[in-house]
Amino acid sequence: MQKEKFDAIVVGAGPAGTTSALIMAKAGLSVALLERGDYPGAKNMYGGAIYRWPLELIVPDFAEKAPIERRIVDHRFMILSKSSGFNFSFKNLSFAQPPYNAFTTLRARFDLWYAKLAEEAGALLVTSVSVTDLIWNGKKIVGVRAGKGSENELYGNVVIAADGANSKLAIQAGLRHPLRPDEVALGVKEILELDRKIIESRFNLGENEGVAIQVLGVTHGMMGGGFIYTNKNSLSIGLVVLLEHLIKSKIRPYDLLGEFKRHPLIEPLIEGGEPREYSAHLVPESGYYGIPKLYTDGLMVVGDAASLTSSIYQEGVNMAIESGIYAAKAAIKAKELGDYSSKTLSYYEKLLKSSYVMKELYQLRDLPKIFRDNPRLFSIYPNLINYAMKEFFSMDGELRRVKSKKIIKMIRQRVGFPKLLLDLIKARKII
Ligand SMILES: Cc1cc2nc3c(=O)[nH]c(=O)nc-3n(C[C@H](O)[C@H](O)[C@H](O)COP(=O)(O)OP(=O)(O)OC[C@H]3O[C@@H](n4cnc5c(N)ncnc54)[C@H](O)[C@@H]3O)c2cc1C
Repeated sequence: MQKEKFDAIVVGAGPAGTTSALIMAKAGLSVALLERGDYPGAKNMYGGAIYRWPLELIVPDFAEKAPIERRIVDHRFMILSKSSGFNFSFKNLSFAQPPYNAFTTLRARFDLWYAKLAEEAGALLVTSVSVTDLIWNGKKIVGVRAGKGSENELYGNVVIAADGANSKLAIQAGLRHPLRPDEVALGVKEILELDRKIIESRFNLGENEGVAIQVLGVTHGMMGGGFIYTNKNSLSIGLVVLLEHLIKSKIRPYDLLGEFKRHPLIEPLIEGGEPREYSAHLVPESGYYGIPKLYTDGLMVVGDAASLTSSIYQEGVNMAIESGIYAAKAAIKAKELGDYSSKTLSYYEKLLKSSYVMKELYQLRDLPKIFRDNPRLFSIYPNLINYAMKEFFSMDGELRRVKSKKIIKMIRQRVGFPKLLLDLIKARKII
């Protein structure tokens, strides 16, 4: 890479960056898509599910073409105490029919497939290249430096920072601060290889059908939870925990994951699974109030780099894609006007403000703080629910009325009714 000039330089070939690159290339812009991994997806991990929308807006037939593992037909929730679980599930047969709703995918395959679409549309995909710095002309960003000694310079009318959580470029551009431990969670995950027939019979799934499982009560009261996703021949199992809580607890993430895997209700689900891969990754948890300024002269920030995630609903890829669409639209408009100043690029923010992403994050704006400050949600309530269920279902000659009194006494001791009421009022913000 020497001194070349493009209409747009996209840094990061994750879902956000590739979306922007693909749309801009289709519109005839000259685009460079730079990725530090050996191939797109090589360094990327997530839990395991992507939604049909908004990917279908860009690749309408993606369900036939993308490297999909399974179509998710069953969403399960497990609220665990040490030795029991209050579990519920939502299964909808329409989710098993086209146009489907959500899918499990492995990022190493999905990101590679997706970036190839951008390449086919005309974007120049350059891998194994780590962008180190922005290049400025006065107050305007005009390109990037890359390579070990920052020896390569690449010029562009606009740079799209799609470099993920804790975006180096957004920080350099002065748009955001480095994420604090209370603004970011650490995700750890293992892929366990398991025969597809075993997966289908164990999870009660038809061929190509999949399940997404969210688990509460396995993080020692720290903000976070566990997950299991079924792939074709493997399971993705992991945990996401607020970094601040993890640091304070001094519990090593891998130990926490080991404990989760050994839980008596989890172990039978993963039995026989052969560990194939272990990975860790950050995910922004700051929600609406953590969204930085999204543009400046010559630069826009998309996806995780702009903290556009809603981890409670395991949403990130869809938000990355949607933000990538709007950044691309703003870049196309800038090319038409021949003006890449922040005035034109503010169109990106305008589009994003009226999008699902911003509206949803605004709706859920208080959740990160509620979750962060309330360890009851992640340990006391799961234990109380399990205690109440055990009492309710145990037949030991004790009258139900007596059991109810015991449950009420336990709630009073562990939480107290004023706090419980307050938590219930806050809980309405989850939906
Ligand atoms: C444990 C965990 C579970 C999750 N589960 C889900 C889920 O089930 N569903 C969901 O929708 N979301 C999930 N998410 C969130 C989701 O992964 C992210 O929101 C999404 O990947 C964001 O996409 P992105 O393109 O913005 O960033 P990323 O996917 O992080 O992509 C950034 C890209 O930039 C590249 N890059 C970074 N720095 C540089 C540089 N200096 N030079 C060149 N390239 C660079 C990286 O290698 C990477 O390819 C999860 C996240 C975690 C951590």
